[in-house]
Amino acid sequence: MALEREIEQLKAWIEESERIVFFGGAGVSTESGIPDFRSEDGLYRQKYDYPPEQIISHSFFLRRPDAFYRFYRERMLYPDAKPNAAHLALAKLEQRGKLRAVVTQNIDGLHQAAGSRHVLELHGSVLRNHCRRCGAFYGLQDILNAKEIVPRCHCGGIIKPDVVLYEEALEERVMEEALACIRAADLLMIGGTSLVVYPAAGLVRYYSGHRLVVINQAPTGVDERADLLIPGKIGEVLGRAVD
Ligand code: NAD
Repeated sequence: MALEREIEQLKAWIEESERIVFFGGAGVSTESGIPDFRSEDGLYRQKYDYPPEQIISHSFFLRRPDAFYRFYRERMLYPDAKPNAAHLALAKLEQRGKLRAVVTQNIDGLHQAAGSRHVLELHGSVLRNHCRRCGAFYGLQDILNAKEIVPRCHCGGIIKPDVVLYEEALEERVMEEALACIRAADLLMIGGTSLVVYPAAGLVRYYSGHRLVVINQAPTGVDERADLLIPGKIGEVLGRAVD
């Protein structure tokens, strides 16, 4: 199907739906200038002293907070990034009472910046940080302004981003809410995700409706199940489908 017709189909389904859920990942923010992990120019194709999966793991954070923060500051913080057409379209759908939830693996806070209110952040957010010793809260600006590479609390403890690292469990309450929304959805849109990071990716299996839409540039493991597959740029597709 040509892109034009795919977008028309998506538009019609959006019109008829009342409980839309969007499930997304890093590809939603590439049009905002934040690289994803697995595209050609994604983070995993770049060279570091350690593989990125290792650097952003819990045990590595504890062992080498300096190396963790060097990578994190250089590659995971994009304080100037702005929401793109995909974020804005999803916020509009929520305002119109059509979309129940955005379930995201992203940690950049751009859905909220676009105006979305019900955002389930499976992997946390770079906007929230806590001292590992006393639990004090710090915002992103505190991390950016810290004098040392490894930011420290007034109490001397190391500050850790509220980002779910490899080896860490996802927050149960967020997972359960995401699951309930996906189960109740009458249209599930999946986009900008390679769907290889578990357990997050497993959530989409709980959708049993008949309108599964996949908007992703590269093939994913759910393409075969998709009722509508749109291999285009998500900002362009959603921007045109939601006016
Ligand atoms: P991924 O990098 O594994 O996959 C991204 C997918 O999006 C790819 O299949 C790619 O083809 C597709 N894509 C890229 N740009 C697109 C566009 N404009 N339109 C449509 N499709 C596009 O990302 P993932 O599945 O989210 O898994 C990576 C993990 O990394 C997640 O857990 C996430 O927390 C984290 N991450 C987050 C950010 C962020 O917050 N912006 C950025 C990088 C990584």
